[in-house]
Amino acid sequence: MRQQIPETVSYALAKLRQAGFEAWLVGGCVRDHLMGRTPSDYDITTSAEPSETEAAFAGERLIETGLKHGTVTVLLGGEPLEITTFRTEGAYSDGRHPDSVAFTRSLREDLARRDFTMNAIAWDGGERFEDPFGGRADIAAGCIRCVGDPRERFREDGLRILRAVRFAAALGFEVEEETAAAARECRGMLARISGERIYAELTKLLTGGHVLPVLTAYPEILCEVIPELQATVGFDQRSPYHCYDVYGHTVRVVAGVPASAELRLAALLHDAAKPACFSLGEDGRGHFYGHAEEGALIAETVLRRLHASNEVRERVTKLIARHMDQIHPSEKAVKREMRKVGPALYFDLLALIRADNLAQTPECAARAAGIDVLEEIGRRILEEEQAFTLAQLAVKGGDLMAAGIPAGPKLGETLDKLLELVIEGEVPNEKEALLKKIKM
Ligand code: ATP
Ligand code: MG
Repeated sequence: MRQQIPETVSYALAKLRQAGFEAWLVGGCVRDHLMGRTPSDYDITTSAEPSETEAAFAGERLIETGLKHGTVTVLLGGEPLEITTFRTEGAYSDGRHPDSVAFTRSLREDLARRDFTMNAIAWDGGERFEDPFGGRADIAAGCIRCVGDPRERFREDGLRILRAVRFAAALGFEVEEETAAAARECRGMLARISGERIYAELTKLLTGGHVLPVLTAYPEILCEVIPELQATVGFDQRSPYHCYDVYGHTVRVVAGVPASAELRLAALLHDAAKPACFSLGEDGRGHFYGHAEEGALIAETVLRRLHASNEVRERVTKLIARHMDQIHPSEKAVKREMRKVGPALYFDLLALIRADNLAQTPECAARAAGIDVLEEIGRRILEEEQAFTLAQLAVKGGDLMAAGIPAGPKLGETLDKLLELVIEGEVPNEKEALLKKIKM
């Protein structure tokens, strides 16, 4: 059974039609609907110009931020709904943006400017589809195909190259042969695209359920947006622990961690410094001293360029810097690690280390079982509210000052020292016992 569209969406379609305009659902929501998935949002395309759309929704709350692209956002039942006027695009001389955008009353012209056939289907919300480029057949075949000549389309807007592979990773579709060849050939166009736009598509690619075959098939496209990974492709680790080259290992770690943007980015960049840190031991084995710290520096550069948020950048670099940490399966050692990285990141770090082990030789993969123990210990520490941060310590700065320690660096050092003693299990986390300790 196909899903019904939300009432607010049918209301909006009806409202535009009553005002004498065409109104269609288009893009991702139509694709999702045809695939039996519940769309995350609905986009409407209409023959009404923005002022006409606004008039049709007089009395509703409107947001005009997208007006110059022809988009009016209507708030219906608290949910934003984007309504965009049919448009055509002029030439693209910069490989990113059309030189001009013009409104049109022709649905077909609007569909023709869209990237892939599966994204160029209009649906009236009922039984009717306008599908001039065979999008429904391509969806049924699991095929990503450009609307029109793929080389032209990729040269107009290089981002579409990354979008092709991100849709492949998200939907499990194949990129049609000519589209794929054009994507590889035109990949240099990606250099013109802003970091923000790359980042949005890259995170969708990485969190896709089919990321492994896609990253395996398109290393050159990935390396176009992250040239720092180029040296990992085909890099032989000369190691008895590794049965894949650095890139092959990397993509398996990406697919092996849970699908959060942060973990996947950390996995993608965790070994980026291996080629630069490679040395050959006397035993003929490859070593990669310092690659975790160096990798964190590479990730810092990449994530700044892509305009990731400070929060994401800090968490990802921390995960990478710590991915070689050897954590002893004891409460003390786990608390020390949790103190260093914070409790939430601790569990993410374990997920990264587990996937890292599993993507090595089968003997190394066996080590992943040890991670379950570290997780269990971590959970117990949280459950029992055992102290591993200053905030949890039973004495505060004020207590120490009352006990005669003056404000200043010494105060912080004493607090740190006391926390260490608590973590080591040498003093219970109780005010009296802790104060007694400083008097000694
Ligand atoms: P998702 O479900 O991930 O949002 P989507 O298909 O809705 O997928 P959007 O980025 O939201 O993707 O874009 C909405 C629609 O706009 C697309 O389906 C496509 O028709 C069109 N579109 C978006 N970006 C481009 C582009 N760079 N070139 C041409 N058409 C595009
Ligand atoms: Mg969308």
